[in-house]
Amino acid sequence: MSALENVLNELKKISYLRGAEALLSWDQETYMPEGAGDARSNQIAHISTLLHNTLVGETMSKNLGELVDLGSGKIRDESLPAREQRRLKEIWRDYHHAAALPSEFVEEVSKHASRSQQLWVKARQANDFSMFQPSLEKTVEYKHREIEYLGKLDTPYDTLLDEFEPHMTSAKVTELFSEIRSRLVPLIQDITAVKDRVDNSILKKDYPIEQQWDFGMSMLKAMGFDMVYGRQDKSAHPFTTSTHPTDVRVTTRLMANDLKSALLSTLHEGGHGLYEQGLPGEEADNPFGEAISLGIHESQSRLWENLVGLSRPFWAFAYPKLQEYFPESLTNVPEDDFYKAMNKVEPSLIRVEADEATYNLHIMVRYEIEKLLINENYPVAKLPELWNDKMEEYLGIRPDKDANGVLQDVHWSFGAIGYFPTYTLGNLYSAMWFNQAQQEIRDLNGKMAQGDLLPLRDWLREKIHRHGRSKTADELVREITGEELSAKPFLDYLEKKYQGIYGL
Ligand code: ZN
Repeated sequence: MSALENVLNELKKISYLRGAEALLSWDQETYMPEGAGDARSNQIAHISTLLHNTLVGETMSKNLGELVDLGSGKIRDESLPAREQRRLKEIWRDYHHAAALPSEFVEEVSKHASRSQQLWVKARQANDFSMFQPSLEKTVEYKHREIEYLGKLDTPYDTLLDEFEPHMTSAKVTELFSEIRSRLVPLIQDITAVKDRVDNSILKKDYPIEQQWDFGMSMLKAMGFDMVYGRQDKSAHPFTTSTHPTDVRVTTRLMANDLKSALLSTLHEGGHGLYEQGLPGEEADNPFGEAISLGIHESQSRLWENLVGLSRPFWAFAYPKLQEYFPESLTNVPEDDFYKAMNKVEPSLIRVEADEATYNLHIMVRYEIEKLLINENYPVAKLPELWNDKMEEYLGIRPDKDANGVLQDVHWSFGAIGYFPTYTLGNLYSAMWFNQAQQEIRDLNGKMAQGDLLPLRDWLREKIHRHGRSKTADELVREITGEELSAKPFLDYLEKKYQGIYGL
């Protein structure tokens, strides 16, 4: 076999192991008996080790080394077609990342992450940051070592950001975020001044969860999520996982007195699921079969959740159906009242419950704190106060307790620092995609109002999903929209929509 064939063969083994690992993790969050936790951790940890060893093992190093300079990533045979060179670059990127971290370090960090996550759960329950603080200090130490191993980019924080959003820089994020801030903060202040114009109490009535489930399933099918190659289940925290484009699993969470939460989480995870189902099956075992980045993934979920699922055209189609599921609560509620209730904007303490406008301010608070932690060695002990000050500065409200402040998110507990910006980047990308889709799909709003969502799914599949990682996020934005990533389309969308809803 040629060196390339050997490399692709190793990647196949890795892909199969990843599929098995994903399925074990999915099961852990859905059906696993409560008592199986320890056994499952061991199983998953062993597969992770096998994965790592295969990726940086002798066969891979030797064969990939014949094709690429392992130190610099330079392709040895420049006569290869551009697409094949790109594929090798992406394979090398994954290899280099894994090989740069010593396996003892990876194991130590993974054990720490698991302990730290358990500590975080307890600290949040007890509303006691001091229980979690030493563990977070250790995590920050590990992050500094990780940055040493991987190599510093523009700033130490950029190395961490690059792991979740390849090629994105904190300089760019800062520029985008300050533009968002300058237009979003006044918009939210204007809305808050007239907040009583929208009443969302209708969404908090009693909505039996069986009907919520059935309605969610019907929407998942309407958006083109293929149940032959996927399924939906319930879990404590909604998520999407995939073992292959032919096996994509989404979950949702149902609450009897909250109509909005399950519905939007189904559309959100459904958007992630469509991306996974739309990835090219023939590339499933190499980087070209993977998603580009977390931000691009999030752009798919946000597009379905917000630009579709919170739009007038969507509810023109979906609301009469929803009324059939919940005649007692909704028969006498006009569609316009329902639409406005779904779109109520209100500064609140908890990110995951935030509306689509204030959500981004939550992200900015975290982004600024992360940069201070990593680039400026800001003391972990002072985070609770810093958090509360920033919340007050951005959202005009101060958390009543750390459980509703610095302790609310799981991310830092397992070492995901540099992850949060991808949520807002996803919002920015999604607005750019949706604008373009409006131009390219004839009468998209009219189609949505008829419940015909497949043209949109197919457009996303054609423009985004089928390319996998064969393009960078920047290239994708330029090819689809002819422009660079910008916050303007997203801000224009928010201003227009909410000025209308609140009569500003
Ligand atoms: Zn998501």
